[in-house]
Order: sequence, then C-alpha cells, then structure tokens
Amino acid sequence: MNIIDIINKKEDDKELTNEEIKYVIDNYVNGNIEDYQMSSLLMTICINGMSFEETYNLTTAMLNSGDKIDLSSINGIKVDKHSTGGVGDKTTLVVGPLVASCGVPVAKMSGRGLGFTGGTIDKLESITGFKTSISNEDFIKQVNDIKIALVSQTGNLVPADKKIYALRDVTGTTESIPLIASSIMSKKLASGSDKILLDVKVGKGAFMNTLEDAKKLARTMVDIGNRYGKETVAILTNMDYPLGRSIGNSLEVLDAIDTLDGKGEERFLKLCLVLSSYMVSMGKNIPIEDAIKEVEEKYNNKEGLNKLKEFISYQGGDITNIPVENNYISIKSNMNGYITDMDTLKLAELCNDLGAGRKVKEDIINPKVGIKLFKNINDRINIGDTIMNVYTDKVINEEEYLKTITITNEKLSDVKIVYDIIK
Ligand code: URA
Repeated sequence: MNIIDIINKKEDDKELTNEEIKYVIDNYVNGNIEDYQMSSLLMTICINGMSFEETYNLTTAMLNSGDKIDLSSINGIKVDKHSTGGVGDKTTLVVGPLVASCGVPVAKMSGRGLGFTGGTIDKLESITGFKTSISNEDFIKQVNDIKIALVSQTGNLVPADKKIYALRDVTGTTESIPLIASSIMSKKLASGSDKILLDVKVGKGAFMNTLEDAKKLARTMVDIGNRYGKETVAILTNMDYPLGRSIGNSLEVLDAIDTLDGKGEERFLKLCLVLSSYMVSMGKNIPIEDAIKEVEEKYNNKEGLNKLKEFISYQGGDITNIPVENNYISIKSNMNGYITDMDTLKLAELCNDLGAGRKVKEDIINPKVGIKLFKNINDRINIGDTIMNVYTDKVINEEEYLKTITITNEKLSDVKIVYDIIK
C-alpha cells in the first residue's frame, strides 16, 4: 500500500477500503505521509466526496489515533452537546446549567476558538479566577457533586484531527461534509458521553451556508453516532444573525447570565430552551414534551441561573468580576426601518480584529473586547438609535460596522430559530 496509489484511486472516484483509510491516518499521524501528500488527498476528497462507509471508517481511524475519555464513573446518562460553530455562540453557558439543574450530568470538555467561531473555554476564562484546567478526578467528583463541569480538553484526544484540521485550515479544504463529519464525530466519540446532541448551524455565520448541505452533514453525523450505538440527534438552527446580544468573551458570559436571569434576547433564549429540552429528554429517557416542561420550570424558578453561579464558583470564578473594556464606540443608525439582513460573518471577523478571537492558534486573545448588540434581525430601528456598542481601545472604522446591517422598509415575515430535527 502506498499514498500515491490511494490518491490516484480517490482521483478516479473509487471507494477507499477501511485498510487504506487506516493506513493514511496512521501514517500521517506518525509522520510517514507528508503534508503535501495529505493535502492532495484532502483536496481530492473535497472534490469527489466520500461514501458513508468511507466517512464512517475515516471517523473510526481518527478516533483510534489517540486517547479516549472514560466517563463511566459519573452517575447517570451523559449527553454531550456540540455546536458546529456560530457567531456569539454562548449556548453552552446557558444550556449546561439548565440541563444540570434538571439532574442530567453535564461533563463537558470544550475547545478554544479558532477562526470566526468562539470557544467556550475562552469565554469562561474571562471570569476572574475561573479554572478551566482541572484533574480528571476533580472533574468527575465535580460532576457527581453538582452535575456540571466545563473544562478544557486534556490528554491526547484525536491527534489525527489536530494535524488534519490545521492542514485543512491552510489548504482550502475545510468545506467538505465527510471531512467535517469525521472531524466532529471522532472528537465526540472520544469524549466518552453516552449520547450526543448536535447543534448544526446553517447560514451566513456558519460552515454550512445552505439548509441542503446542513441536512446532509447532520444526516452523516447522526448515522455515524447511531452506528456507534450512541443515540445522536441533530438540530438544524439558524445562524444568519448573531446569537443573543453579544459577540466577544466577557460580554458573552454576561449575556449568558442575563439570559438565565430572564433578561436575555428572546430568540437566543428559545434556542437554548430547545437544546436543553432535547438533552434532558435524551438524558432522562423521557418524552420531549415532559422535558420542555421541566426545563421551562428550571428557567422560570431561576434554578438554571443558580446552577450557573454554583458552577462558576466551584471552578474558582468570581461572577462579580468579569472585566469588560471601559471604552466603547456606539454605532448608530442613519436610516429608519427594520433590520432585515446582517453580515454575521463580517461581524465575527471585525470582532476578531478587535482581539476577541484567534487567526492562528498561537494568538493571545483579549477577553474584554467585543460587540454588544442593541438591535438584531427584524427589529424596528430609527435614525440615531444605537445598533451596537463596540468595546475596544483601538481606533475603528465605524462605516465597516454600519455596513454589516441592512435596513429596509418591510419586516421579514418570519425568522426561524430551528429549521429541522434529524434523528
Ligand atoms: N468543527 C470541527 O471540529 N471540525 C470541522 O471540520 C468543522 C467544524
């Protein structure tokens, strides 16, 4: 077996065998296959695609490239939630405590942000004193004690994905359903949960720009999870506008607290309630209608908020000390009408330019900067109204921010939150 024959076979649009896929992954991880050879194969996969069988075998080969986490000493059914990456995506900070307050264990290892998407760990680290790195024993004890722990990944989980993802990033090979599905599912399967809930984002601020592609990705991931014997559900959600009222680390934590305190943006709250209800339904094996009731009760009686406070303080964080940049610039409307379109990706990029995110893994982020949105999609707006405050001590081009917002006379007839659910 050799890599050139495998690349040629894929170029001829033939199906690779399990042995061939395993050969590629093992030899790329141990350095016998060069980056330029792997890039060529990845590009061929981007162009010719992969069958489900190949995608499943690729996931397995990647999963077996490193450590697997054992969560069996945590009581109860562990349901992991994964978002394919959005803008202002702080759902884990709201959903985790709500689900935990219903008694379902949330044992989550999260990542840092890269590119236009933020990472839960970066957001949590904006809280003074918060520890994202704890020992495995303390992690398990914490989940058994208070039902929730959110920590950064430890161990050598899916090294194949680390290497391949970095290569995809610089070779224009990120947008491929089999490559995204195997990347996400290998990590989810390695992180030890019993069931998996996928929040597949669709729209301008997402990897998948069309509903059709998002459905294909969701179907592939759900089928991989289920074939592994782990109940997997995908919820396809709208990512055409930023989630909630903030983009940027400390601002997003404050937004998550507001949301659990009944002061959040309505669409974002609904999204969090839907995701929480599915996690509770899966974690307790109860009908979705019963789970919705339970989650709404925990939201209304503030048990979700109290759980967030308890968990932040358990991990050493001071919820009263979440620093935000003092200086801000208000971007005001120069038109009357309704916001009917938002360049969500551009907003994320502008936020990254402020220092809220990373362009390369080594970048150091500034947790205090970001954007606070006073208006969102389909909101009425008048001349002089503040659309957003940009928290930064840098000089910014206000026009660039204003250009991300489209204002028209007519309101949109509907703004979907959830498009579809795939089981
Ligand atoms: N998230 C991942 O983990 N991998 C991808 O390929 C895309 C999004």
